[in-house]
Amino acid sequence: MKKNITIAYGDGIGPEIMKATLRLFEAAGAQLEMDEIEIGEKAYLSGHTSGIRPEDWETIAKNEVLFKAPITTPQGGGYKSLNVSIRKTLGLYSNVRPVKALHPYVETHHPKLDTVIIRENEEDLYAGIEHRQTQEVYQCLKLITSPGSEKIIRYAFEFAKNSGRKKVTCMIKDNIMKLTDGVFHEIFDEVAKEYPEIETDHYIIDIGMARFANQPEIFDVIVLPNLYGDILSDIAAEIMGSVGLAGSANIGEKCSMFEAIHGSAPDISGKGIANPTGLIRGGLLMLTHLGQGEVAEKIENAWLKTIEDGIHTGDIYKEGQSKKKVGTEEFVDAIIANLGQKPEHFAAVTVPKESKPVQIKLKGRPREKKVLEGVDVFICEDDRNANSLGEKLQAISKEGVLEIIMITNRGVKVWPDGNPLTFCTDHWRCRFQPKNGGSVSAKDVVNLQSAIVENGLEVIKTENLYTFDAKAGYSLGQGQ
Ligand code: NAD
Repeated sequence: MKKNITIAYGDGIGPEIMKATLRLFEAAGAQLEMDEIEIGEKAYLSGHTSGIRPEDWETIAKNEVLFKAPITTPQGGGYKSLNVSIRKTLGLYSNVRPVKALHPYVETHHPKLDTVIIRENEEDLYAGIEHRQTQEVYQCLKLITSPGSEKIIRYAFEFAKNSGRKKVTCMIKDNIMKLTDGVFHEIFDEVAKEYPEIETDHYIIDIGMARFANQPEIFDVIVLPNLYGDILSDIAAEIMGSVGLAGSANIGEKCSMFEAIHGSAPDISGKGIANPTGLIRGGLLMLTHLGQGEVAEKIENAWLKTIEDGIHTGDIYKEGQSKKKVGTEEFVDAIIANLGQKPEHFAAVTVPKESKPVQIKLKGRPREKKVLEGVDVFICEDDRNANSLGEKLQAISKEGVLEIIMITNRGVKVWPDGNPLTFCTDHWRCRFQPKNGGSVSAKDVVNLQSAIVENGLEVIKTENLYTFDAKAGYSLGQGQ
């Protein structure tokens, strides 16, 4: 039975590789009914700043599956990333990127690389909430939620279980970001207990990425928050041999989007030389998702055989190793000619014949008792004298419920007992807590803020200090 999908030919090399990919899928017997939408450069330049016309969302939502070639984001300000919009609008929380070496046919330092990277797709610094707060200080909010973390972590474990993978690794930086990356790590440990058959480990992101770049074969499935996942998945594609080789799936509860990981490659556009493999592999994930695993298996085995035959596009062609340098269409002709054959060097691929979409049921976490125990007031002050600011705030808070207990600058404690060597900007985080301990009311916080403003200081923003079941929901100042 034919499956309805939405397709977008994209920009640059997009139309070339999409045309070739669809020709291959048809030759292999894929059952697809396609609605085409025009996204990317044309939509941007006709005034749709998000790169998509409003009516095209309906088509995508109706068909539930979008197969998308890369698009070009025009230079200059005012254009929003279409990829980020698609992921967030459709709730595509999981980005799945398999990377596997094609040694010895495609040059790589890591012949045993075979990893699936699962990147959280909606949260983290990609919330796009940025503010310039003072002359000197710019801020980007990093938002990590417990349901968002639980969803992607459960997805990674379910994915590992369904695909026979043995290990799931979590990469975070909770030695520094104890709350945001901390909750991701905590939930990873909680969910891991439900999958005793799957081995788990975790790395601090810097050493994790370094280890991956040097010894990727020790990793199986890796789950990460958005930004780390973005970086690691590009490293992975690069060490595999070419950015032209990897595809990815963006999975949501209802809709999904499948694509190549690379961009529109304007430098080779129109020349007919682009490698269509990334889009083909994105498409194979889509065919499997649509329950057409038999077709996906046939194409993947024929594609592996073509790679073994030494028929290579320019990006992976190597004198002495490859046999024939071909363009996009000729490469696809060779795969079509190999349909029905199996690779000889590589293990033949078997793809589940039935689609088994990952179903996530969130367990959530018990509700905790939240108590307001103070406030951080962020003040803009050009005078770089922490002591005089501290004394001023002591005088202001003398009468109220809250008293100043600490000032930090870029997170480092500068009052009381600051170090004169600490470099200070015009941005001060001033922490107030109740004189006699215990809780405070929202009104106490507002009264304090009014008193500060009435005394001629500029308040940029405030952050309430809560405890949750008596555990601090805020970090200490460095040096506090
Ligand atoms: P790019 O991925 O388009 O190109 C990087 C390099 O890789 C270029 O040298 C290119 O020729 C080569 N390359 C990429 N795909 C190839 C393929 N299939 N075969 C052979 N060689 C290939 O990255 P870029 O140049 O930074 O970005 C170009 C445009 O693409 C920008 O407008 C960017 O915003 C956009 N982009 C879109 C997506 C997407 O739609 N998913 C992703 C990344 C970048």
